[in-house]
Amino acid sequence: MNTEIRKIKDDAESEEAIRRAGEILKEGGLVAFPTETVYGLGGNGLDARAAKKIYAAKGRPSDNPLIIHIARMEDLDKITSGVPEKARRLAEKYWPGPLTMILPKADCVPRETTGGLDSVAVRFPSHKTAQKLILAGGGFIAAPSANTSGRPSPTTAEHVIEDLNHAVDMILDGGQVGIGIESTIVDFTEEVPIILRPGYISLEMLRKELGEVRMDRGLLKEGDSARPKAPGMKYRHYAPKADLTIVEGETEKVIAKINELAQEAQEKGEQIGIICTRETLSRYPNGIVKCTGSREEEESIALHLYEVLRDFDKCQVTAIYSESFNTPRMGQAIMNRLLKAAGHKKIYV
Ligand code: AMP
Ligand code: MG
Repeated sequence: MNTEIRKIKDDAESEEAIRRAGEILKEGGLVAFPTETVYGLGGNGLDARAAKKIYAAKGRPSDNPLIIHIARMEDLDKITSGVPEKARRLAEKYWPGPLTMILPKADCVPRETTGGLDSVAVRFPSHKTAQKLILAGGGFIAAPSANTSGRPSPTTAEHVIEDLNHAVDMILDGGQVGIGIESTIVDFTEEVPIILRPGYISLEMLRKELGEVRMDRGLLKEGDSARPKAPGMKYRHYAPKADLTIVEGETEKVIAKINELAQEAQEKGEQIGIICTRETLSRYPNGIVKCTGSREEEESIALHLYEVLRDFDKCQVTAIYSESFNTPRMGQAIMNRLLKAAGHKKIYV
């Protein structure tokens, strides 16, 4: 398939590209586009055939449901059946934004889109290009992250091109995204709302709005025995090619341990990869060292994490060791992604 790649700016040509992309979606085709979280791989969310195409393009298991993206508040009621008052309150507060809500689905939503479930995941993104495309494409766009299944989610159009060139009809290049990790998912199909995937909107922020909110038990337990409620969370996502291990503990001990591992590798004529922050960057004399951001500005760690993981796929490293990033607000979301990328491998020092 020939993939058309279009840069999106603030001009008439870009408006025309978005309009054409909308036509492609209406005809059942696939368009990758920027959102504020990560790039999405869009198809018509009300068309079972488009859902099948999305699964095929990503190589995603079809029991892993898709999020439907809307761009008008009133469209929420068209694809759901019964929105609890708490969900409406949360939508008022955080939509448009990096929040996905799981609600009972309406009949018009095909089971192909929801991975066979009776519930549907809905998000109203804040990214202007995403909003325009959703409206141009009919209003209901199913869009998982625009990566090949198992690879880190894309935060630039280049990442999308690496994974999906020739697999989609069009890629809208809106530059780098704003947040860099996927939306917070909150399940409203039970009495007490449950976080199925942590994201930019934290547990504390949700509790402030809703009162009682739980974390899915599958997220709290570490290791492969965990059974998360969001089907997609059980897969080993975001994985770099080299084996990744997290080193956790007091900062000086972490630095010493990673340096010891780098030294050992070097003596064998090998090299390890190291993921650190700006504060510790100068402390690693050996190995290939990549900085994901600054601890002073936790958003920067989230924004560059996937990019760093992807970059290591282009490096000759035998293993990757990462510092732990238990930062105050986004730490839960960052560590959720990092632990999955590491297949939950951790060294405590
Ligand atoms: P992605 O599309 O790559 O951002 O991943 C979407 C995530 O939402 C996956 O982990 C899905 O399993 C989860 N998800 C989507 N729809 C539902 C649903 N109806 N119930 C529970 N989890 C869902
Ligand atoms: Mg994904």
